[in-house]
Amino acid sequence: MGPEKLKEIINKIIKDVDVVVGYKEGFDKLHATPCFITKPEQTDRIILNALCAQNLANYLLSLKSRKIAMVVKGCDSRTIVQYMQEGLINREKVVVIGVPCTGVVSVKRVLSNVNSQPILDVKFSGDEIAVITTAGEQKFSIRDVAPDKCRTCLYPTPVVYDYLIGEAIQSDKAHEGVYKDVEELAAISLEERKVYWEKEFDRCIRCYACRNACPMCVCQDSCIAESREPHWISQKSNLTEKFMFHMIHTLHLAGRCVECGECERVCPMGIPVNILKKKINRDMRELFNYEPGVKPDEKPPMFTFSIEEEKIEEHKL
Ligand code: SF4
Ligand code: SF4
Ligand code: SF4
Repeated sequence: MGPEKLKEIINKIIKDVDVVVGYKEGFDKLHATPCFITKPEQTDRIILNALCAQNLANYLLSLKSRKIAMVVKGCDSRTIVQYMQEGLINREKVVVIGVPCTGVVSVKRVLSNVNSQPILDVKFSGDEIAVITTAGEQKFSIRDVAPDKCRTCLYPTPVVYDYLIGEAIQSDKAHEGVYKDVEELAAISLEERKVYWEKEFDRCIRCYACRNACPMCVCQDSCIAESREPHWISQKSNLTEKFMFHMIHTLHLAGRCVECGECERVCPMGIPVNILKKKINRDMRELFNYEPGVKPDEKPPMFTFSIEEEKIEEHKL
C-alpha cells in the first residue's frame, strides 16, 4: 500500500465530491485515524499503510446526504456491497477508492509485544514493521502482528471499486479457514460452550464499542440495548443481561455481518465477539448459499420470505 497514487486520485476527484474519507496519522506513530479531506491542500495529510485498519465504510450512512469518496480495503468493501443490498446507500453518491491489501497490523498485538512502552516512531520496510519505543527498536513481520481476519482473508481486493490503487490480489485461502474458530467451538459439548461464553461475557463491561464500531448495527439511536419502550434488557451488569445484549447483537446481524472484524478490534476486553456472528454466517452459507456483502445484486436471506425454505426442515412439519 502506498499513498502517492492515492493522493493523485484524490487530487483528480476532489472537485467532484463533498468529502474524501481516508486515513491520517493518529495521536502517535502507531495509530492511524480517519481523515476527512474537503480541500486539495489537505491531501498531504493522507497516509496509506498497514496501520490503516479501521473500516471507514462505517461513515457512509452518517454522510449519505453528501457525495463521498472513500478509501476501502477488501474486507471494508463488503460493507458497501451489503449497504447496497439492503438499500441503505445510493451507490452513485459514493466513489470507491479500492486498495488491494496484504494485511494490516493489530495495534493490540504490537503493543503487547512491546510491553505497551510509549511509541517514538514506526517504520515500514517490505513486509516488516519496526517499532521504536523508549526501550529500543523491535521489528515484526506484519503477518505475525496481523489480526486473525487477515490470516484467512478471502477478499484482499475490494469487491467493488471505481479506482484501484495497485494490482488486484487473488486470495489463496479457503472458506473453511474463516470458520475454523467456529468449528473448534462447535466440537466441544454444549455445557463446555456455555462455560466458555460465560467466562468471556463475564468480562464484558457493556461499553457497546463493538456495537458502535459495527457498520451493520444501523439502528443507532433506536438500539434496543437502550430502548425503554419496549424494555428488552436492563442496564444491570450481570451475566444474564450481558448474554441478552450479545444474543440480540448476534441475531440482528444474522446474514448481515460482513466479517470486517471491527467489533473485536475495538473491544477493550479482548472478547471474541465475532465468532458468534461468523457462526450464523456459516449457517447462512449452508442454508441459503449466501455470503454477506459479496455480490451487489444478491438479496440477503432475511430480506426475503418463503413458506417452504428448501433446506429448513421445520417448515415441513
Ligand atoms: S482482511 Fe483482507 S482486506 Fe481486510 S485488512 Fe486483512 S488482508 Fe486486508
Ligand atoms: S459484527 Fe463485527 S465483523 Fe460483523 S460487520 Fe459488525 S463489526 Fe464487522
Ligand atoms: S466492546 Fe467488548 S466489553 Fe464492550 S460491550 Fe462489546 S464485548 Fe462488551
